[in-house]
Amino acid sequence: KEKNMKQNYAIIGLGRFGGSICRTLIESGQEVLAIDNNEDRVNEYMNIATHAVVGNAQDEMTLKSLGIRNFDHVIVAIGEDIQASILVTLMVKEMGVPDVLAKAQNEYHARVLEKIGADRVVHPERDMGIRIAHNLVSKNILDYVELSDDYSMAEIRVSNPRFFDKTLLELNFRQRFALTVVAIRRSDGKVVVSPTADEIVRKNDNLLVIGTTEDVDILDNKMN
Ligand code: ADP
Repeated sequence: KEKNMKQNYAIIGLGRFGGSICRTLIESGQEVLAIDNNEDRVNEYMNIATHAVVGNAQDEMTLKSLGIRNFDHVIVAIGEDIQASILVTLMVKEMGVPDVLAKAQNEYHARVLEKIGADRVVHPERDMGIRIAHNLVSKNILDYVELSDDYSMAEIRVSNPRFFDKTLLELNFRQRFALTVVAIRRSDGKVVVSPTADEIVRKNDNLLVIGTTEDVDILDNKMN
């Protein structure tokens, strides 16, 4: 299905994670059913979500009566209660929902969620911790996303004069750093997406690069 077409989402658990997903999906014009067993949480989302209902998602009858199997996407955003998160993910997958995203609390939880068929498993706290740590350690890395065990994407400030006023070709970016520059953010905020080899790198530009985590670190060190 097309990405921007209206799709149906069900969010189970309206903590900080599920809640912010709910708000953002609604802002993007999507339909959202929000479910939580805590009545206060549901009241909070009554006027935000398309529908908000009080219900225990661990109860199979509840999931069935809400027609969960008809949703395109289900987000299992149950926090602390790992057992509930696992059981709900399992049931939702068994009901045939094509895309189930589940939030993991730790590595073991993530492995179980993947095994029982979650289509996407996210660890927001761990991932945000990694991003922030990279940002703290390096004065050039502004943002950092791990794409896999080996690959990362990073936004790196051009702070070494040896890089100033040279084209990507002159810098020989791909050969020297084995990194792909996917975008350049100029100091005035303008963004050049998919820059060509003749694009000039200037002082205080930010380069959005993709490559192995090792190569990203090498480029980061070169900026110092
Ligand atoms: P976060 O880290 O996202 O803030 P929380 O643990 O605070 O995580 O939020 C999880 C939400 O999931 C809570 O609002 C809780 O009431 C809800 N929840 C937990 N178990 C169930 C369940 N079995 N059915 C429905 N909602 C649940």
